[in-house]
Amino acid sequence: MKKLFVKTYGCQMNAYDSARIADLLAPLGYGAAAAPEDADMVVLNTCHIREKAAEKVYSELGTLRALKEEKAGRGDAMLIAVAGCVAQAEGELMLQRAPVIDLLVGPQTYHRLPEMIAKVARAGGKALQTDFPALEKFDALPQAGPRGVSAFLTVQEGCDKFCTFCVVPYTRGAELSRAPGAVLAEAQALVAAGARELVLLGQNVNAYRGTAPDGKTWSLARLCAALAKIEGLARIRYTTSHPRDMADDLIAAHRDNDKLMPFLHLPVQSGSDTVLAAMNRQHRRDDYLALIARIRDSRPDIAISSDFIVGFPGETDADFEATMELVRTVKFAQTFSFKYSKRPGTPAAAALKQISEKVKDERLQALQQLLLQQQNDFNDAQIGRTLDVLFEKPGREPGQLVGRSPYLHPIHAQADASTIGKVAQVRVDVRTANSLKGVLV
Ligand code: SAM
Ligand code: SF4
Repeated sequence: MKKLFVKTYGCQMNAYDSARIADLLAPLGYGAAAAPEDADMVVLNTCHIREKAAEKVYSELGTLRALKEEKAGRGDAMLIAVAGCVAQAEGELMLQRAPVIDLLVGPQTYHRLPEMIAKVARAGGKALQTDFPALEKFDALPQAGPRGVSAFLTVQEGCDKFCTFCVVPYTRGAELSRAPGAVLAEAQALVAAGARELVLLGQNVNAYRGTAPDGKTWSLARLCAALAKIEGLARIRYTTSHPRDMADDLIAAHRDNDKLMPFLHLPVQSGSDTVLAAMNRQHRRDDYLALIARIRDSRPDIAISSDFIVGFPGETDADFEATMELVRTVKFAQTFSFKYSKRPGTPAAAALKQISEKVKDERLQALQQLLLQQQNDFNDAQIGRTLDVLFEKPGREPGQLVGRSPYLHPIHAQADASTIGKVAQVRVDVRTANSLKGVLV
C-alpha cells in the first residue's frame, strides 16, 4: 500500500478539504502515513489568510526538499503536492519559487489530483490546476469516509463580500451553495459512519442558498431542520457566519431546533463605524449590537464568538477604544483576534495609513487580555452546572474521556470508553486553562 501524508494549515474548510483529499486518493491505494518520512506522497493544504500562514508553507517545502533528495538517494520516490489558497493565489510563481513541487491544485480543483498524479507518472514534469470549475468538485468526490464523532461538512464555498483586508474572494472564488440533496446525502453517510455531530462549513455559511430539485431555495435554517431529522445525529453546528446574513429564520432556529447548538461564531472584526466602513463590512456597530440582542432574545443562553482585527490601516486610538467598548458590551465566550496583515492584491494593502507593528502589538495585547477575562468568566459560570457532553475521544489521563458542552467547551471526565459517541450529563467542578473538568451524573 502507498502512504499519504496531508498537512493542513488554516481554517476548518481546509481541514474538510484535507479529509476529502484522503477520501479521493484512497481508491488509488493511498493509506494514511504517520509522518512525511513514511509517505510516498505529501500534500500541503495551505492557507493564505495572513502573511505568516503563507510563509510557513515555504519553510515546510524546504524541509520536504531535503527529505525528497534523501529518499531519491535511496531509490525511493516521493510526490509533493501543494493544495489550498497559497497554491491558488501564487500558481506558476509558486512552482518557480519551490521547484520541489510536483503537483499544484487550488481549493476548487483538488478533485483532479488522481488524473494529475497519472499524468506526472506517465509523462514526468509538473501538473497545475487552479481554475474555478463551480460545483464540479463536489460531484467528483467519492463518498465521505469515517471521521469520528464530530465531522465537518462543507455546504457553501467562496465569498462575494470583498472585505478590503481579505484574500478569500480571490482564492476561493464566488459564493456557491451545494444542493440540499447532496448535503443531506453526505450527512447521512457521515452519520452512518459514526458521526454524531455535524459542523456545517462555509466562508459565509449563513448565506447558504441551496437550490432544491423543485427550484425552491433552501436557507441554512431549512437545511438544519432537514438535517435534524437524521436519526443518530445528536448535534448540528455551523461556521463561519456574517452579520449581514443572519436571517430571522436562523435566529428562530436557535430557539426551535433542538439539535442546533447554542453557540454562534459571528465575526465583527471592529467596533468602530469608521473602520467597519473602510473594511467594507457593510454593517455598523449598532447593527451588530442589535443583532446580538435579537439572537439572545431567541436563545438566551447562546455563547457568542467572534474574530477581531487590530491595526487595520487608519485605525486610531479612538477606533480601537470603540472595539474595546463593543467587547465590554457584548461579552464574548470565545474569540480569535489578529493583527492586520497586508495581503497582496487586496485594497487595504495599498492604503497609505498603515499602522506600526508596535501599535498593533500593544492593541492586540490589550484586546486579548480583555477577551481572555471574558472567556474565563464565561467558563467559571459553568462551575456547579450540569451540562450535556458529547464525548469524542480518550483524554490525557487514564480512564478519562474528553467531549464538548453545547457551548463548545472541551470537558474532561472519568468515563467508560463506551461513552464515546454518546451524550452524557456532566457536573462541572473545575476550570483549567482551556477546558473544564467534571463528573458524570
Ligand atoms: N468569512 C468570515 C467573516 O466574514 O468573518 C471570515 C473568514 S476569514 C478565513 C477568518 C478571519 O481571518 C477573519 O474573520 C479575519 O478576522 C481574519 N483575517 C482575514 N484577513 C485578514 C488579514 N488580512 N489580516 C488579519 N486577519 C485577517
Ligand atoms: Fe473574507 Fe469578508 Fe468574505 Fe469573510 S466576508 S471571507 S472576511 S471577504
